[in-house]
Amino acid sequence: MSGLVPVGSGWRKVDLPFGRIAGSRTNAMLQQAFAPLLDLVYPPRCPLCGEGVGVQGGLCASCWGELVQPAEPSCPLCQLPVEGHHEGEGIVCASCCAKPPEHDGITSATLYTDAARKLVIAFKHGRKIALARMLARLISARLPALEGEWTAVPVPLHRWRLWQRGFNQSALLASELARQRGMSVMVDGLLRLRNTRSLSQDRLSRAERVRSLAGAITVNPARARSLRGAQIVLVDDVMTSGATTSACLQALRSAGASKVRIACFSRVLEEARPSAAYGQKQDAREQGPRASA
Ligand SMILES: [Zn+2]
Ligand SMILES: [Zn+2]
Repeated sequence: MSGLVPVGSGWRKVDLPFGRIAGSRTNAMLQQAFAPLLDLVYPPRCPLCGEGVGVQGGLCASCWGELVQPAEPSCPLCQLPVEGHHEGEGIVCASCCAKPPEHDGITSATLYTDAARKLVIAFKHGRKIALARMLARLISARLPALEGEWTAVPVPLHRWRLWQRGFNQSALLASELARQRGMSVMVDGLLRLRNTRSLSQDRLSRAERVRSLAGAITVNPARARSLRGAQIVLVDDVMTSGATTSACLQALRSAGASKVRIACFSRVLEEARPSAAYGQKQDAREQGPRASA
């Protein structure tokens, strides 16, 4: 790390001993130094049930146990369970073989159960934005190793929604995921031109939702050049019908993105049989702090 220091009438480049002042290492050191103080003022509590927990931002053991992961082994493209193969084989399912999807794989950390829904509500509407780190860790834990340069791009919010909520939850997740996985992030790669209502509000069918989204999501013209040929991880909090991600996918593909992977915290997936709950697969005490760090 070097910096400019005033010498006589000019400036001289020198090596600085501190690293980047606002760098992640310094931030982490500061966070660590203040953690005991923070715990004293705000004792760590589970964001779902309020139970006391060991670390800030972690879930209690019983809430961990209620989060459900999509079953393994699963198809590396659609994440639906594949029967008769051992974990890690990466066997593409019959329907993806017959009709390959437009994306390059879906990774969801959880199935959209009651516990996942409560976490998303706390994150999005309860303004517990500190949960972004934990949710991103859960996504990262299931996201396979990615070769080469990848950029995280969030599903966009319409500016009215952004103004109401004050933040785009998917952009927070994308930034955290990018930080944890050493990717770059482009929070304004996509724009939502029209404020389409959510599936649950309108009880639209998927086909109706796809129609309502046509032309609503587009690539930011200022970012079009950087998206050409890029490998993108499209980040969403919850994937419901897939209509929104599909609209984002089309926009990114038409801008020339070479690969688009979808990564979300939770997924509404009727077909997927639930696998181990997070708390069951590993010891909850071990999983909790690791995922919340
Ligand atoms: Zn709890
Ligand atoms: Zn598949």
